[in-house]
Amino acid sequence: MPDRTPYIAANWKMHKTVAEAAEFVDALLPRIAATQHDVVICAPYLALSEVVERSRGSAVEVAAQNMHEAESGAFTGEISAPMLVAADVDAVVLGHSERRQYFNETDEALARKVPAALAAGLQPILCVGESEEARDAGQTEAVLERQLQADLAAVEPERLAEVVIAYEPIWAIGTGRTATPEQAQEACAFIRDVLRERGAIADAVRILYGGSVKPANAAELMAQPDIDGALVGGASLDPSDFAAIIEAT
Ligand code: PEP
Repeated sequence: MPDRTPYIAANWKMHKTVAEAAEFVDALLPRIAATQHDVVICAPYLALSEVVERSRGSAVEVAAQNMHEAESGAFTGEISAPMLVAADVDAVVLGHSERRQYFNETDEALARKVPAALAAGLQPILCVGESEEARDAGQTEAVLERQLQADLAAVEPERLAEVVIAYEPIWAIGTGRTATPEQAQEACAFIRDVLRERGAIADAVRILYGGSVKPANAAELMAQPDIDGALVGGASLDPSDFAAIIEAT
């Protein structure tokens, strides 16, 4: 089985000014100097360059939280993949449930965004996950399969392993209700099976869990065989908490 380097990502959402981002990076770097993990900071657009410059030469990679699928054009207010690459950004979060819910991010748009990111040289971090209603109705696997098939439809099987998948049950995001390690493992194993059926080298794909990850629960989640890292929201805003999550995994 290929080695899967643990991947721990901080999703700051709409938090931190440029100065606050700089302060965070300066506090985090000494804490993670020895880490062997991939550590990713998903920063607001304005703070991206600051995080890129401050973290050069460290384990930290930098991700945007969204992008437009076109390379350029009349799309006021949008940012393209080539613009992010030109700013030395490494990755981009796509399909976060907050974007699906509040900004009408559709599977059709994601089917264009994921290949556009790959074509530009950005690593997509594709978020999928079910609502509480879907879980209660026994629809978790159906939702995950539908999202994965739709969002990855235009990605060639040999490039699927370049996509990082984040399993984020909507009911666990920002709620303090973490999925149990068993629930998270079951969903991540299912995701890996779907990717295998799509022709991916599924054992090489990094699959993250996201949803109220904290220093206290990170280790048992990350100990699951199909969970390769975490996408951390609230607990990533504090450098000590985020460092503790990296150290725990
Ligand atoms: C997220 O923003 O992707 C997330 C998982 O948030 P939280 O850790 O706050 O639940």
